[in-house]
Amino acid sequence: MTNVSGEEVTGQVDFTSHASAVVTVAVRLVNALTPGEAHGRPYLPPAGRALPAAVTAALRAGQKDVRQVTPAEAAQFGAVATAIRSVFDAMAAGHTDTAARLVNEMLASTGARPRLDRHDGEPWHLHFHGAEDSPVTAWAAGCATGLAVVLGSDQQGRLGVCTAPRCDRVFVDTSRNATRRFCSTSCQNRVKAASFRAVHRPGQPNKKPTPA
Ligand SMILES: [Zn+2]
Repeated sequence: MTNVSGEEVTGQVDFTSHASAVVTVAVRLVNALTPGEAHGRPYLPPAGRALPAAVTAALRAGQKDVRQVTPAEAAQFGAVATAIRSVFDAMAAGHTDTAARLVNEMLASTGARPRLDRHDGEPWHLHFHGAEDSPVTAWAAGCATGLAVVLGSDQQGRLGVCTAPRCDRVFVDTSRNATRRFCSTSCQNRVKAASFRAVHRPGQPNKKPTPA
């Protein structure tokens, strides 16, 4: 299994590969299914009928033709998202060793294994499957392997948690210079607006010396 993050695969982390697709899904699952704060407000995952729709939308961010998940499957994705979040949190805190251990645990618990697949007119490409056929396990294995590919490469710093106040949504930095700090333009604009207000706050003592 560890060979999946070998040189050939690592060299293909170009954010168009299957690894990028599953990492995108990992981000979407965390942001949809883990409670916390989002864009300045408290965040709770969707409930009831909205939950399977949210999970399906997250999966389709990586694979367009995926079927609608059932309510029972959707409920199981919560634990997957929590496990994935712990990897992003560890990376954001600079605890790479912890992140690697958590990913290894996910690889082991899902029985993740690489497999070459060919479908939908695409050429042969590497997919990541789980030990059993449950779609939840398969996606958990896929996300774990995608994270393993990123963590085992020189792109590991691209897994991020939003640095804006009152937001803990996660992201993958695909910018050329790897300088992204926020989950969204919404949070970026919030921080910009707050720093503008701090500089131009009315009633602030003028910085110029006041006449005595
Ligand atoms: Zn944010």
